[in-house]
Amino acid sequence: AKAEARGSFRFFEPEMDARLQARRELERDLREAVADEAFELHYQPIYDLSVERVCGFEALLRWKHPKRGTVSPAEFIPLAEELGLIIPLGEWVLRAACRQASAWPDELKVAVNVSAVQFTSARLITAVREALQTAGLPGRRLELEITESVLVANPGSTTAILHSLKSLGVRVSMDDFGTGYSSLSYLRSFPFDKIKIDQSFVRDLNASEGSGYIVRAVIGLGASLGMTTTAEGVETPDQLQRLRAEGCDEVQGYLISRPVPAGDLPALLRRLNGE
Ligand code: C2E
Ligand code: CA
Ligand code: CA
Ligand code: CA
Repeated sequence: AKAEARGSFRFFEPEMDARLQARRELERDLREAVADEAFELHYQPIYDLSVERVCGFEALLRWKHPKRGTVSPAEFIPLAEELGLIIPLGEWVLRAACRQASAWPDELKVAVNVSAVQFTSARLITAVREALQTAGLPGRRLELEITESVLVANPGSTTAILHSLKSLGVRVSMDDFGTGYSSLSYLRSFPFDKIKIDQSFVRDLNASEGSGYIVRAVIGLGASLGMTTTAEGVETPDQLQRLRAEGCDEVQGYLISRPVPAGDLPALLRRLNGE
């Protein structure tokens, strides 16, 4: 059957047909959802260990699908990129996050994930400036999170974009640090403000010595480069204790809180900051 599958009849296999159809449906729904802005942002606190307080929230996109319920961004972001929908979608996220953050206390920042396509698009700087202006949010309260794929695709334009963002006061974080393949040289070449240590290292922190060494090395590297280090995916008190001992600046994860809708933030802040 394997050999047959490679032939031209593969396309007509019923299973393949069903998958294609499901994908087309998802495509159509996603186009519609982008047009209708049928999305919502959830927010996960980022906790500053030096002052034991929430210092900001990461905005995480949720698609309320009429039939499938909540669809994970891991599923629809790649599709949005492929369909060229990530620019309008990403700009909606920027506007919504800035607007919501403008209602929070001034010490709280908002972190927004930006896909590689959006980061290197000619519209990024204008979109960021407009989102800040419309919301009345100072640039220093916005952080953009990008992954290494941005740098791999476009090392040349990235430096210029990073400097334009800096001139708006906006900070930039390297997300999922350690999962790409040239992280170290990128850190040397690009002026990031923050390194987010990928959750895969945090997960193994107490189980594998190797992960512990890596986390320690990244925290040390961040400190010597003047970058803040944030550990992602912190789920247990043991992990938190270890990160604290290693001198990690900030933590984020289910142990502190899952991502929650904007309306739940006042209560969450009272619980976490003890106010
Ligand atoms: P990410 O930027 O690395 O975000 C962290 C993901 O880990 C989120 O998943 C979050 O809910 C999850 N998480 C947080 N704490 C824990 C924990 O303690 N344990 C575990 N197991 N997971 C934890 P989510 O919300 O499903 O988002 C997945 C990815 O989708 C994000 O990964 C990001 O790459 C992308 N994404 C989300 N929102 C946006 C957006 O607005 N724009 C773009 N371009 N990408 C987005
Ligand atoms: Ca992120
Ligand atoms: Ca991440
Ligand atoms: Ca990730």
